[in-house]
Amino acid sequence: MHDIGLQVVKNARGEVGFRVLVGGGLGRTPVIGVEICDFVPWQHIITYVESIVRVYNEYGRRDNIYKARIKILVKALGIAEFKRQVEADWQFTKNGPCTITQAELDRVSACFAAPAYEQLPESDTAAEALQRDNKAYGNWLKRNVKPHKVPGYASVVLSLKQTGIAPGDATAEQMDAAAALAERFSFGELRITHMQNLVLADVKQSDLFALWEAAKKLGMATANIGLLTDMICCPGGDFCTLANARSIPLAKAIAECFDDMDFQHDIGELEINISGCINACGHHHVGHIGILGVDKDGEEWYQIQIGGEQGNEAVLGKVIGRSFSFEQMPEVIARLLQVYVRERYDDERFIDTVRRLGIEPFKAEVYGTAIEGEKELGGPGYGLVGDVTPYATPYYSPRF
Ligand code: SF4
Repeated sequence: MHDIGLQVVKNARGEVGFRVLVGGGLGRTPVIGVEICDFVPWQHIITYVESIVRVYNEYGRRDNIYKARIKILVKALGIAEFKRQVEADWQFTKNGPCTITQAELDRVSACFAAPAYEQLPESDTAAEALQRDNKAYGNWLKRNVKPHKVPGYASVVLSLKQTGIAPGDATAEQMDAAAALAERFSFGELRITHMQNLVLADVKQSDLFALWEAAKKLGMATANIGLLTDMICCPGGDFCTLANARSIPLAKAIAECFDDMDFQHDIGELEINISGCINACGHHHVGHIGILGVDKDGEEWYQIQIGGEQGNEAVLGKVIGRSFSFEQMPEVIARLLQVYVRERYDDERFIDTVRRLGIEPFKAEVYGTAIEGEKELGGPGYGLVGDVTPYATPYYSPRF
């Protein structure tokens, strides 16, 4: 999904280099990048990328704001021709001043020295016993704690997805407290993810329970990482002048409808991504359920896509049909989940059920029944039956 994507790989001889992808992007023209080279030795990666940019500078559509992206040029030329031009240009840039030397690699590597890990056993039996005795802690371990390559350590996601709070939002006090947690538990380092959460990357397993208790007090221990309420959400109409619709209040409305943690754990992995306009800052194209705010005659509506996925096997979602009003959206999500619960195999994720069945059964459930008097985006009314909870406007009052 990036203009240029670099993936560290080893070749058959065990040498380190990069697989290079090019021409990805979201927004108005969503495209998954394609491979331009399966292996560029690490010494030459900067000059190779330089050649990609040089070809783009030569032929890209910088004259047109809507077309001024590498993805547009790759589409216009085709990947074979784009690659040919890049490789031809690389003959001039390769071995130039931007070639990375061993001395330069060593200099930069020294800035990323590993923290002073202790020698610890692979797992902590006291921590495992606590997990057995405490369901809430066990759920947090399951969802928010990730394995670590160093024995006795773990990586912890501090959730910024507490229901009632804008996804990814944290107060100044919470940020100060999170910094203190990083000092106490993770060598003073804290990371921020595109999923709008915080990560403490180097936590001793024996410290996990204490960290959980401290994070709980801060409202950062919701055991929902990768679940329904762990939504990506752009600022939308509350803060962004480009927005067609509000995103944050919609995320809040959906979260409140599905706030039950047992239900969320039963539904399992689910990514809901919300963007307030086609610029796609909320990455709706690659959400398992993607929601896009659209404008119709000055009113906000929401278009649904399903089947998208981020990661190495990225896929763009497919639009299921006409848009919905704000008030209808929680029910629309409920109906998509009804199909999933009805049709899923044991332990099958939502996204895998969508892949197996296609979007038709989901469309049928969502649009299957007409509602009298429903406001529609043109055409006869199709929509939801049953209780659709009305949400007052504005539903969510920002804190700042
Ligand atoms: S997706 Fe649109 S509304 Fe949301 S932050 Fe980006 S530009 Fe603003």
